[in-house]
Amino acid sequence: MEVRLNYINGAWTPAISGKTRELTNPADRSVIAVMAEGGKADVDLAVAAAKSAFYETGAWRRATAPARSEMLYRIASEMDACRAELARADTLDNGKPLRESEGDIDDAINCFRYYAGIIKAPYGGVYDVTDGFGPMHSYTIHEPVGVCGQITPWNYPLLMAVWKLAPALAAGNCVVFKPSTNCPLSTHMLFELFDRCGLPAGTANLVMGPGGEVGEAIAAHDDVDMVTFTGSTEVGQSIARAAVGNLKKVGLELGGKSPNVIFADAEFEGAVEWAMIGIFFNQGQVCSAGSRIIIEESIKDKFVARLAQRANAMTIGPGLDNPDMGPLVSEDQMNKVLKMIELGKAEGAACVCGGERYTEGACAKGFFVRPTIFDNCTRDMTIVREEIFGPVVTIQTFRTEEEAVALANDTEYGLAGAVFTSDGARALRVMKEIRAGITWINCYNPTFNEAPWGGYKKSGYGRELGVHGLEEYQEIKQVNIALRPGAIGWYEER
Ligand code: NAD
Repeated sequence: MEVRLNYINGAWTPAISGKTRELTNPADRSVIAVMAEGGKADVDLAVAAAKSAFYETGAWRRATAPARSEMLYRIASEMDACRAELARADTLDNGKPLRESEGDIDDAINCFRYYAGIIKAPYGGVYDVTDGFGPMHSYTIHEPVGVCGQITPWNYPLLMAVWKLAPALAAGNCVVFKPSTNCPLSTHMLFELFDRCGLPAGTANLVMGPGGEVGEAIAAHDDVDMVTFTGSTEVGQSIARAAVGNLKKVGLELGGKSPNVIFADAEFEGAVEWAMIGIFFNQGQVCSAGSRIIIEESIKDKFVARLAQRANAMTIGPGLDNPDMGPLVSEDQMNKVLKMIELGKAEGAACVCGGERYTEGACAKGFFVRPTIFDNCTRDMTIVREEIFGPVVTIQTFRTEEEAVALANDTEYGLAGAVFTSDGARALRVMKEIRAGITWINCYNPTFNEAPWGGYKKSGYGRELGVHGLEEYQEIKQVNIALRPGAIGWYEER
């Protein structure tokens, strides 16, 4: 198989070490591609290219907003033309059902279009300032930050890349990008599109390779002005530490253990279906997953019975066959999830559905886990406290609204949360109390390019998407102008 190379300074470049890595399909372990496996020396090359492109050549930084916008629209159109191949790549690489990959690609295309649009909107401010130094005029401009290092996980391979690349490029930055070693294929294809679209050399650089080497080198590099990261809280903490050296800007989108609070007056079937979407979409490998169902005691038994009935009826199979659920991303991830399931059983939670690997028919060799529901969970259980990142949900009950809020906030994470109720005032009251950055009322998981995405507490800081997502990649400069040039007589003339 032809090796897919890193992309540095506008050229396809083998890893300096010559190393490569095979990518496998998690549904059946077949090899789907071979990628260059970069290291620290490749990061040095890519950072030097980005630095020179930003600070010396400056072609992209100095391009006008309409010119950058036009390029982003061109990239979106090229992605549209390759939609089927990109979606297939994400499904082969990650395992997710094809229709979910198609949805991801559409969101990614729209993300480029969104930033192509808003980069042309008016921005900056004009300030009416005091005239203690003579008459002055003061205004602000937004400028790109410089060289941005970007590191992504495997759960939404192309979409997570685009959430970072589209705003960073719209703002005029140069980028060194590292995708997850598990799922770099669609990102590599995106860089092929960048090349075809004529993005200036050095503007966007791709270095594939292990997090402990490539990711760490990016986070610690003195010539990187900003690092944005999506991934686990543990690695996020190490990135924040590595970034201290040159005080680079940091954006962190980290893990979650999000509450899905359901009151007895909620529309029942709707709450069941959204709860399924909340935890079983993308095999539960979603940072914002509603992995803790917190439900009013009076409807718990009926709800759990219906949820289990529907979960048991889900189809499981290779992503290309478009089942309800595909395999988990890797053997490691499957083993992690199965270990947590065993821990849940050992700690005394009642496994009412799933709770094991799935190996029937075409799934014999793949990394499939049945949708799993744990009833009778308590706040101290590991499965209630730790992110599992798989199709596993815990059930806890409450009697009062105060108890529901206390359970919802009983976590070190603060990424997302939802409340289901027919009482509008209560929905707003509860939502105001939930300490999380992304919330839903009577639904779970809808996400929009227009609205800011990010967490509280150990779920990270900074925001992606929306206008806030663009501003993360900008510096704000104030410009103060003396309206009457000349001496102002501050010091006595001698
Ligand atoms: P991970 O933290 O293991 O890896 C994420 C990325 O960081 C990968 O590219 C990896 O190679 C790299 N990396 C690993 N070690 C590194 C190091 N020491 N220095 C620099 N980079 C390093 O996470 P994952 O397993 O790929 O993804 C799952 C995690 O991502 C979950 O915790 C999930 O909640 C989180 N996530 C968060 C969001 C969000 O928006 N908040 C979105 C998706 C996923």
